[in-house]
Amino acid sequence: MPTLSVVTPAYNEARNLPVLYERLQQVLGGLGVDWEWVVVDDHSRDETFAVVAAMARRDPRVRGLRLARNAGSHKAITCGLHHASGDAAVVLAADLQDPPETLPTLLAAWRAGAQVVWAVRVHRAESAGRVGFARLYYFLMRHLVGIKEMPATGADFFLLDRRVVEALRQFRESNVSLMALITWMGFRQTAVPYDKQARLYGQSGWSLGKKLKLVVDSVTSFSYLPIRLMSATGFVVAILGFLYAIVVIVNALAGRPPQGWASLMVAVLVLGGLQMLMMGVLGEYLWRALDEARRRPPYLIEAMTGEEADATRRES
Ligand code: UDP
Ligand code: MG
Repeated sequence: MPTLSVVTPAYNEARNLPVLYERLQQVLGGLGVDWEWVVVDDHSRDETFAVVAAMARRDPRVRGLRLARNAGSHKAITCGLHHASGDAAVVLAADLQDPPETLPTLLAAWRAGAQVVWAVRVHRAESAGRVGFARLYYFLMRHLVGIKEMPATGADFFLLDRRVVEALRQFRESNVSLMALITWMGFRQTAVPYDKQARLYGQSGWSLGKKLKLVVDSVTSFSYLPIRLMSATGFVVAILGFLYAIVVIVNALAGRPPQGWASLMVAVLVLGGLQMLMMGVLGEYLWRALDEARRRPPYLIEAMTGEEADATRRES
């Protein structure tokens, strides 16, 4: 069993992976640790899997898995962690935004006793819009959702002890932020600083739609705040509505019926909109409950490296 498993989710990263391999080999070779590299191809549309398979033929420490459909990086990471056999696992993006040169610091913190080590971004070589969105997301997670331990500047590069990797196997939920879940799990957690680099080749696989789903997943899986807000808003609106109804009735009985289509429309549209908004919030919780109840597997594996070699051995 290797000491360290490096787990990398990869979506259209054919050009980045060989560069990352060289840098990993340099850094980990220098440290003298025993390592393996588990690359999970999240159903890329480019040559990612062929590139991993070629590296795996040359170096038995490299293993590749290809998912049967694009499941998103959190599920790809989950798959990689399920297949990692090291005493510790590091999750590292394929695009070299998380420099492998930070690995020695992560390992040192683990050896000093931490079970979860977050690499926390000090500087980010990215656009203001992206950094702003990330800041807002982590603010929401810390202050509204209540996962106070989440690093303020973001968490996507981290080390997990074997214990934590095993503990993670017990969670079967699909619509969740893996990083928020790890923070929520507890254990001995610590953080070390690093500078997030710019992407080497290609572009981010996170579309706006995927990001928005992650935001709603992150809120609904750890908080009932939106539902509480609905009850509170409903309560306030109902009280005000009853009070105003009394005014309207009294006026009508006194021979001064309220006039106008405008006031009626305002009430109908505002209340109708509010109700639909609240149904939407309920719907977000409801479909997730149904989705989890189905217990579909979070990912399916289409291929693994080394299978061709096994097939030739069987034939001969
Ligand atoms: N990724 C993935 N599936 C996806 C999108 C991204 O496995 O659907 C991988 C991607 O190849 C990279 C990591 O997840 O290794 C981080 O993604 P990306 O760099 O696209 O996101 P960003 O850095 O913009 O947050
Ligand atoms: Mg990236």
